This record gives sequence, C-alpha cells and structure tokens, in this order.
Amino acid sequence: MQTIAIINASSINEYALEPFAGGPGSLDRVRSLADRLAGPDGVLILMGAGQAGPEGARVARRDAWTMKAVLEEASAFASEHPGADAVLYLQADAPFTDPALAERLLALHRRYRAEYTYADGWPAGFAPELLSPRALPNLAELASRHDLPVDRDALFAVIQKDINSYDIETELSPVDLRGLRFSPTCDTRRNKLAAERLWNLGVRSADEASRLLPDRPELLRTLPAFMWVQVAAGCPQACSYCPWPAMAGDPRRADGHMPAARFRSLMSQAESLCDDLVVDLSLWGEPSMHPEFEELAEAVLVRPRFSLIVETSGLGWAPGLAERVSARGGERVNWIVSLDAADEAVYRALRGEGREEAEAFAARMAAAFPGRVHVQAVRMKDNEAGLEGFYRSWKKRSDKVIIQKYDDFAGCLPDRRVADLAPLERYPCRHLARDLAVLLDGSVPACKHCLTPGAGGRLGYARILGNVFDDGLPTVWERAGEWYLRHAAGDYPEPCGRCDEYHTFNA
Ligand code: SF4
Repeated sequence: MQTIAIINASSINEYALEPFAGGPGSLDRVRSLADRLAGPDGVLILMGAGQAGPEGARVARRDAWTMKAVLEEASAFASEHPGADAVLYLQADAPFTDPALAERLLALHRRYRAEYTYADGWPAGFAPELLSPRALPNLAELASRHDLPVDRDALFAVIQKDINSYDIETELSPVDLRGLRFSPTCDTRRNKLAAERLWNLGVRSADEASRLLPDRPELLRTLPAFMWVQVAAGCPQACSYCPWPAMAGDPRRADGHMPAARFRSLMSQAESLCDDLVVDLSLWGEPSMHPEFEELAEAVLVRPRFSLIVETSGLGWAPGLAERVSARGGERVNWIVSLDAADEAVYRALRGEGREEAEAFAARMAAAFPGRVHVQAVRMKDNEAGLEGFYRSWKKRSDKVIIQKYDDFAGCLPDRRVADLAPLERYPCRHLARDLAVLLDGSVPACKHCLTPGAGGRLGYARILGNVFDDGLPTVWERAGEWYLRHAAGDYPEPCGRCDEYHTFNA
C-alpha cells in the first residue's frame, strides 16, 4: 500500500507563499505534510507556467490548467507508482490541512476500497480529498466533457457529473460548519487574516476548529468582501417594492450621480483595504443613468482582483455600452437584470413602463455573454402566480435565473413575502460581516437594509457610520464592526431586531 500526493498550486498567489503566522508559508506547510504521508518521491505539485516551485520538488507546469489536465497529470504520475492505492489531493493554500484527519480519511478509503473519499461539514482547508488511482483515467475523461474551473471544489464538481458511477466514502464533521462559509485559507488577504486569527487562538486541527468556531463569530468578520456603491440617484422606474422612492422622492425626476473621479478614489481606497472585492452598482438608482458609466466600470476592472456586478432595470443603455463593458471585463463582469414578471400587467404594476426594452436587453446580453447575465424576479405575493412560468421561460434563454427573496426593509415596506425563509436560530448578520454600502455622497450606513421611518413617513438610514471621502474606508468599516459585536452578543440595534436579511449572503 502506497500513498502518493498531488498538490494543486495552479492558481496560488503571494498569500500561499508568504510566511503564515510567523512560520513557513502555506505551500511549504502543505508540502511537508505531503512528504510525510507520501514520501518526497511520491509528491507532485501542479503550478502555473511562470511560478517558481519549491526547491527539490517535482513540479508540473502549464499556462492554464483545466480539471481534465489536473486529472491527466495525476493519472500519469500514478502510473509511475504502480504500488500506489491512494492519491491525496491537496490544496497548496490550505495551511490548516490536518494530518490526523488525512490519516482518518486514508483509513476509510482503504477499508472500503473507495474511489473517492472526502470530508464534509468542516470549513474549507482542513481536509484533503482522496482518489483511487484506478478511477483517474475515467475521471479525466469525465472532466473533458465539462468546462469546470480548477477551484477548491472542482474535483467534487467533476464527480458530481456522474456521481452514481463511483464508490464514495465520507467523513462527517461532528458539527456542520458549512453554513459559516468560513475559509481559513491563504488565497486572499481576507481569508489569510481569518486563518492567522484562528491560528493565534491556538487552533491546529479540524476537531479544535469544530469546537471553537461556533462560539467565535468575530472570526467571520475581517475585511469587506462586497461593496454596494450608489452611483446614480435617478431611475427610469419607481418600483412598487423598492424603498428608494420613499427615501428620496420619485427617482424618475432625480438626476444626481457620483463623479467618476470620486468613484476612482473610492476604488483606490477599497483596493488598499481589501485587495480583492466584488463591487455592485448601483445601490439605489439605475447605473445606465450615470453619464460616465464606462469610466466607473474601468475603475473596477483595472484592478485585476476586483469584479463588477451591474444591477439594472435593463432600461436606458446606450447602444453597445453594456457589451463593451462586458467584453472588457470577461468573467469579472456580471449583470443582474430585474424583470420580476413575464406578464405585462404584473410587470407594469410592479415596475412601470419598459418591459419590452428590458426583456430585449436581457435576451441580447444573455445571448452575447452566456453565464454572466442573471435575470431576476423578486418573489412576492404580487408575482407568485406567474413565477414558475417566468423561471421556465427565461431558463431557455439564460443559464442564470435568480428568484430573489423579498425584503420589507425591517418592516418599512408592506409584508409581501410568500414564505418565511429565516433560520430557526438567529445569528450575527452576514452583511455586517462582509458588506459595505456607500451612498452617492460617500456616506456609509450601517448596512444597506437598516431603514427606519422618519418625519412625514420618509424612510432614512437608522445610522450613518461616516463618510468614506472624509473619514476613510478603514474607519467606517471598523465602526460597522461595533454593530457586529452587538449582534454577536445577542443585542440587536434598531432596526435589526425586525430585519430578516441577516442570513442572506452576497459574496
Ligand atoms: S440585521 Fe438587517 S438591518 Fe441589521 S445589519 Fe443585518 S441586514 Fe442590516
């Protein structure tokens, strides 16, 4: 019985190479573990063409990796080791890869002669995956039929394509921690910070993490991952379920916008703080109404670790503008086109005029940029009857159809929910842990959703934390942390106690 190991370092960055918690970097730690379990001759590291490999290591390099290529390299390497009965598949950016858990998985894999063995319920980065060498050629062929990115979940994604054909074993975590979406890995500044904080609390193993994490929600908040930015005040529609008209008056008559120079300075601050970020335009208002939209998009896309989401009614786009932005950004640009209903009368009641133009925009963009255009309906009593038809009809034209939860903004809008999706047990708000919302003038509310009624029934934010142009992004982010710590203590500031958005997740 021999174990061999494949370390996937194909898309690592500086965070996996730098020292981790004052010691060796993540790649070095994972390699040491692989050497221990497979012996130095039994380890193959997969890297990008330009990456420097660790000294003395066997490295396979390619310009671009696919899962087919990963599995073919693994298969070729396994054929050099005819005595091998198990292949450890490790991620180079996972400094918490647990040797004891790896041994448990190996024992399970061998006892049941499995073809694939994995651990479930722990956060990312604690467990390797295991393959049988005999399954590799078949899996490479299966991967060749599907275009899957080589990300952390890619091996399981390949197997899922024909899951009943493989003998699979699973080791379950005593506590299911997947819902935390905690990733103590060295792939982003945010995740590495979380990983080092976990390490500094003394955690070294998967079991220790299972015991500690449920009681340490502060570990889930490090740096922003998602930023809504309001870039326009106006909108061609005044939707019946949107709070913006009740905050600022009829948006069809508004015309303010955030100047491109200010937006660029905001993106510069965001890059310094977060390194990678999802930027969503526009928090309120219609992005097509911004006179310099292409410059805004460029300010996001010029930063290679940023990606852009454009939330639009699909109305008002100058010919070719959306296409140019999408072509420039490739997979880093996603569109959400809010349509809400296929039926003209329901559309008009919810959104107003413009259904034909909006549908034509969504169809044109979905055809030109498949997989990157999401057609959305907010699910509510008003459109529930036609929602299945909406879904089926748009599924034929776009891979991506979003049925979005209705938000009554902590009771500020009528309750039009069809179902209560809130978890049975409340936990600290995901938005406070990961998001920032920036308004037109740079002011930052505690979160996008925290509205309260003011004088004359006008809606406004319960708390403004500061202004990114005056106070700086790090300061307002730290101030939002005070609310998060109150949530962690079970103390919900106004209006959080009435809000059911705390469990929803953006990025
Ligand atoms: S609970 Fe609701 S109002 Fe409070 S921070 Fe979270 S999303 Fe905002």
